[in-house]
Amino acid sequence: MELKRITNFNAGPSAIPLNVLQRVYDKWFNYEGYGMAVMEMSHRSKIFDDIHNRTISLVKQLLDLSDDYHVLFLQGGASLQFAMLPMNILTKSKSADYLDTGSWSTAAIKETKLFGKVNLVFDGSIDKYMRLPKMDEIKLSKKAEYVHITSNNTIKGTQFFEFPKTGDIPLVCDMSSDIMSRKLDINQFAMVYAGAQKNLGPSGVTLVIIRDDMLKKMSKDTTSMLNYHVHLKKNSLFNTPNTFGIYLMGEVLQWIVEQGGVQDMEDRNREKAELLYEYIDENGDFFSGPVEKSSRSWMNVCFRLPNEELEAKFAQESVGARLSGLKGHRSVGGLRASIYNTASLRDVKTLITFLKAFKKRNIDFL
Ligand SMILES: *Cc1c(COP(=O)(O)O)cnc(C)c1O
Repeated sequence: MELKRITNFNAGPSAIPLNVLQRVYDKWFNYEGYGMAVMEMSHRSKIFDDIHNRTISLVKQLLDLSDDYHVLFLQGGASLQFAMLPMNILTKSKSADYLDTGSWSTAAIKETKLFGKVNLVFDGSIDKYMRLPKMDEIKLSKKAEYVHITSNNTIKGTQFFEFPKTGDIPLVCDMSSDIMSRKLDINQFAMVYAGAQKNLGPSGVTLVIIRDDMLKKMSKDTTSMLNYHVHLKKNSLFNTPNTFGIYLMGEVLQWIVEQGGVQDMEDRNREKAELLYEYIDENGDFFSGPVEKSSRSWMNVCFRLPNEELEAKFAQESVGARLSGLKGHRSVGGLRASIYNTASLRDVKTLITFLKAFKKRNIDFL
C-alpha cells in the first residue's frame, strides 16, 4: 500500500510516529486475540486495565517519577486544567503566582481570576512575548499557593531552559507542547499537565501528574468530575475515560522507549532545532526569527519572511510541496514549524530544502 504521507509540521494535533500508527492498525480489528478493537472494550475490563496501567508505568518510567507522584488521564484538554487547578486550590482570598508568557498562559490566568487572585510575576506582553525572563527577573510572592509556568509557548515559539526555584511553594507546569522532549528533573514540579496531542499522542486525553503534597492542598468539596481526589481514588476511571487515547499514548510512549528514551528525544530535538535556526540566521537577508535567541523553542520554530504577501505565498506553496502546518498561528501571523518528538531530522532537512528553493525563487523580486 502506498501511503502518500505528507511531511507534517502541524502544531497540534500533530504527527504520530508512522511505526505507531502501523502497530495500532495491525491490531485495529482484533486487539491481541480478544476479538475486538480497543475502542470496543469496557474500560473496566482486565484487558483495558492492562493497557491503562502499562501507559501509567511508561509515564513513570520515562519521566523518572518517584512514588510521591500520581498519574492521571483526564479529559477537557490542557484548557480544562487552566480552571480545574485554581478551582481545587484557590478561594477569593488566596493567590497564585503566574508568569504570562503569552497565549496559553494568558488563557490560564484568565481562568484563575475566576477563583482567586493572580500575582503576575512576569509580564511578557511588554516585549510582545518574544522573550522569556531570566530567573532573577521573576519576583515571586511569599504567600502564593503555587507558581504556574508554561514550559513551552507553542504559539509564540519560546521555551524555558531553566525554571524558578520556588522553595516550599509548589511549582506547576503546563508542559503540553514539550513534555518528554528533553530530560528535565520532574522533582522540581509539584504538578505537571499536558494535553496529549503535541508530544504524546491523540487529542482528547490530558496527562496530569500530581505530587502528594500538592494533592493535600486540594479541596475535597469540588464537584466530582473536576475533583483531583475523585479521579485519583478511581485511577482515572471515575467515569469513562478516553480509552483509545490512553492506549495510543501508551504506544507512543513505548516508541519513545524504543528510540532510547527522553535523553534520545532531547539529543534529536536539539539537533533539529539548531539546524533550522542556523539556516534561518545564516539567511537573514530573507528569513528572520522574531524570538530572542536565548528564548527560542526547540519545538515550535517561528520565522518571518520580508513581507506578509510572501508569507501567504509560502504558506500556500508549502502545502503544494506536501509540507503541512507551516502557517503561523492566526493570532501572531508569520510562519511556524512545529517539530515535536515525531518530526525527524530528515523532515527538518526536507523543510530546509524547501526554504532554500523558496528563497531562491523569490529574493530577486524584493
Ligand atoms: C495546545 C496547548 C494548550 C491547549 O490544549 P488543549 O488540549 O487544546 O486544551 C495549552 N497549553 C499549551 C502550552 C498548549 O500548547
